[in-house]
Amino acid sequence: MTSIVWFRDDLRLADNPALRAAVDRGEPVIGLYVLDTSEKVRPLGGAARWWLHHSLADLGERLRERGGALVLRRGRAREVVPQVVQDAAASAVFWNRRYGGPAREMDTALKARLRDDGVEVASFAASLLFEPWTVRTGSGGHYAVFTPFWRACLHLPAPRAPLPEPREIVAPQTLPRSDALDDWALLPTNPDWAGGLRETWEPGEIAAHRRLDAFLADDVDDYDRARDEPAAGVTSGLSPRMRWGELSPHQVWHAAAASGKDTERFLSEIGWREFAWHTLFHAPDLHTENLRREFDAFPWPRPHPAALHAWQHGRTGIALVDAGMRELWHTGVMHNRVRMVAASFLIKNLLIDWRRGEEWFWDTLVDADEAANPFNWQWVAGSGADAAPYFRIFNPETQAQKFDPQHRYIDRWAPDWADVPPLVDLGDTRRAALAAYDEVKRSR
Ligand code: FAD
Repeated sequence: MTSIVWFRDDLRLADNPALRAAVDRGEPVIGLYVLDTSEKVRPLGGAARWWLHHSLADLGERLRERGGALVLRRGRAREVVPQVVQDAAASAVFWNRRYGGPAREMDTALKARLRDDGVEVASFAASLLFEPWTVRTGSGGHYAVFTPFWRACLHLPAPRAPLPEPREIVAPQTLPRSDALDDWALLPTNPDWAGGLRETWEPGEIAAHRRLDAFLADDVDDYDRARDEPAAGVTSGLSPRMRWGELSPHQVWHAAAASGKDTERFLSEIGWREFAWHTLFHAPDLHTENLRREFDAFPWPRPHPAALHAWQHGRTGIALVDAGMRELWHTGVMHNRVRMVAASFLIKNLLIDWRRGEEWFWDTLVDADEAANPFNWQWVAGSGADAAPYFRIFNPETQAQKFDPQHRYIDRWAPDWADVPPLVDLGDTRRAALAAYDEVKRSR
C-alpha cells in the first residue's frame, strides 16, 4: 500500500517529519504538491510563483534521485487530495502542519474525511520551533508583546534536533497522473521580468544549506553590529528559504548552536518569525483587518494612484525609499531596515493605507509570507502587535544618514536619486499624518 506525503510550505527532504513518517512505514511513497485554487486561499504573488516553480523543480529532482516521485496537481486541495489518494490506492497521507486560518480549516476537514474513508492520516510540527498554542501567558492566553513571548518560548523544551534526510525512497510501480510543472505557467513570460531574480537566487534545498553554512561561517559575527546597514550584506538572506521550507527553523536553530558563535541576536529574529505566526494564528485576518481595532477610525484620504505608482516603482524622490523599492523589484527582497522605512513612508508620508503596501510586497517579495508580511506592515502602521507607536514616524533622510552614510546602498540601487523631484514634503506630510492619527486617539 502506498503512502502519500503532501508537501506544502516544506519543500525539503531533510528534517521533514511527514516524509520521514512515510518512509519509515516501509511502503512505497509518493510526494504530492497541489497548486491550490480554493477560493479561500490567497493566490500567490508573481515573485512567489517564480520561486515556487524552481523550488518544486529541485524537490522533484531530489526525490527522483532517491528513487521517489513528485506528483503535481492543480485544483481545490480539498478535492484533489482525496482524488490522488484514490488514484494511487494509497492507505496513508502525511503532512506537516500549517498555521493560517483557511489552511487549518482545510486540513482539519480533510483529515476527518480521509479518516472516514479508512485512510491513515498524520500531521507533524515542522515549520515553527514552537507551535502557536503551546506558547501561553500565565493566564492561558496568547502573547501580544514580543519580549515576553520569546522569553516564554525559551523556557519551553528546546526545539528537537533536525531529522536526517531519507537515503532511499521507493516509489510505487505505477504513478498517478501528474501535471507538467511548465504547464502551471508560474514563470513570467511576456514580459519576462525575472532576470533580477535569476541573477540573485538559486532556489532549492542544497543552495539553502550552502547559504546557512556561509552565513554562520562568515557573517554572523558582524550581525549584531551591522544588521541594520543595508550595504553591509551581513544578514542571513534565509527568509525565502524558510518561507518555502527549503530549510526548517530547527535546522537553523541547531546549526547556529553548533557554530559555537554568539547567535543570540540572530535567533531572536527567528523569534520574530515565530511571533508573526503566533499572531496570525490568533488573528487569521491579519492582512485585511487592523489588529488594534481603534485604527479602523483612521481617516485614510482618497486613494492616490499616482503616488502609489511612484512608490511602487521607486520614483518618490526620497533616496532610501527609492533604492529599497528598486532593490525589491530587482531581487525580490529588500533589506529589513529599508522595508521599515519604505513602509513608513507609504503610510505616514503618502497617507496610503498599509494594505496597499502589503499587497505590493505580497506580489513582489520572494519571501512573501502570510504571517510576516501583514504582521510587519501592521507593526509599521502602529495597528499591529507590539507595534511601533504611530507617532514615531521614520525620517527617511535621517535613516539614510545613520544607516547608509556613504550612500553605498543608495548609489547601488538609485544612482539617479538626485534627479527625481520629491513627491511630497516630509515635514508637511508628517504633520498631516499626526493630525489624522488624532482621530484614532479620539475614537479610543
Ligand atoms: P535576517 O536578519 O538574517 O533574519 C533571520 C530570519 O529571521 C529571516 O530570514 C526571517 O525568517 C526572520 N525575520 C527577521 N526579521 C523578521 C521580522 N521582522 N518578522 C518576521 N520574521 C523575521 N519577512 C518575511 O520572511 N516575509 C515577509 O513577507 C516579510 N515582510 C515584511 C514586510 C515589512 C513591511 C517589513 C518591515 C518586514 C518584513 N519581513 C518579512 C521581515 C524582514 O524584513 C525579513 O525577514 C528580512 O529582511 C529577511 O532578510 P534576512 O533573511 O537576511 O533576515
